[in-house]
Amino acid sequence: MFSTKIYLDNAATTKVSDRVLNAMLPYLKEAYGNPSSIYTIGREASIAITNARSRCAELLGAKPAEIYFTSGGSESDNWAIRTVAAQGAANGKKHIITSAFEHHAVLHTLQDLEKQGFEVTYLPVYENGIVKAEDVKSALRPDTALVTIMYANNEIGTIQPIAEIGAICREHKVLFHTDAVQAIPHLHIDVVKENIDLLSASGHKLHAPKGVGLLYCRRGIRLTPYISGGAQERGLRAGTENVSGIVALAEAMTAASEVMDETNEKHKKYAKKIYDTVMQIPRVRFNGDWEHRIPGTVNFSFEGVEGESLLLQLDLKGIAASSGSACTSGSLDPSHVLLALGLVHEVAHGSLRISMSEYTTEEEIDELISVLPGIIEKLRAMSPLWERLTKEENK
Ligand SMILES: *Cc1c(COP(=O)(O)O)cnc(C)c1O
Repeated sequence: MFSTKIYLDNAATTKVSDRVLNAMLPYLKEAYGNPSSIYTIGREASIAITNARSRCAELLGAKPAEIYFTSGGSESDNWAIRTVAAQGAANGKKHIITSAFEHHAVLHTLQDLEKQGFEVTYLPVYENGIVKAEDVKSALRPDTALVTIMYANNEIGTIQPIAEIGAICREHKVLFHTDAVQAIPHLHIDVVKENIDLLSASGHKLHAPKGVGLLYCRRGIRLTPYISGGAQERGLRAGTENVSGIVALAEAMTAASEVMDETNEKHKKYAKKIYDTVMQIPRVRFNGDWEHRIPGTVNFSFEGVEGESLLLQLDLKGIAASSGSACTSGSLDPSHVLLALGLVHEVAHGSLRISMSEYTTEEEIDELISVLPGIIEKLRAMSPLWERLTKEENK
């Protein structure tokens, strides 16, 4: 156990940093009171939540009253989309616009709404993995209740034109939600400037623990209660607060914003190193867009290679990376993100996502690129698909 030496799957989850752990520990061991209690350790917990809410709000350009703590990105996505959909339906608006390559927390929620009679437009993301703002505009209808487009894609890292889409939605008085789970660790976001009405974030993608996240909901938009019970989160989401998790999320967001620019520069350099090595390999494809991308996430497809085998070979070398998203690697379906880019099934299958964190080192990247070409060669030598591909070429 615990034999992974090089962790390059930070888009799946991240380690809890020492800074975050130290910030949260007092709320597990000392100020562990119930924030709703009036004695000192309860009040301390309650103050910690208030402070965390202010810090998260400030980092997003929002107001504290617009931040709701949740159990993570999936819950925030569900809450935002289901709330706006229900309110839209009450006003006869049952059309929603999204993209073809959203996270499943968004796509599966929308599929559920389709069964309830909503109509969903799935915008194309083109070969580079970027939605066109003008496509959003053309898809708008008088009965459109919501536009939900992710900020940065989790498999290929491409950044969407969020401010442009936000402006279009505001102009047409349509609510705009963005799943910013992958963007929060790497980009400075301002919900006011970018006209974002609702935004989802998750702690475990930025060195806080799993099971905490937030939903930003602009003032004036009435959220529908999500969990009934106590009066927590302004009576909209009951349940004793995850105090240490909430403290961790605020600390993690603060820490990320402090090192963001520096980390992105470092990641750009590492990504270029990986790119230069990988693109030497025959029949490889870089997936996404080099410019409009979270610098620390890169994705390639290798023809004649099976993604799962590639991951196992890397694992034998102590390297953790991903092929498609973690949620789908249990199945043999190729990634819906890569299919949305227009990749054929066989090529989508042989994909590799490398995602870095602020703790990724150049030595780790050097180790990866020293073993990767050999692994691809070895796998191709055993692959009937590769044999067929190269035979065709030699004809
Ligand atoms: C990880 C992720 C989620 C889900 O967040 P959880 O906190 O794991 O529920 C949603 N959207 C995107 C883009 C993600 O990367």
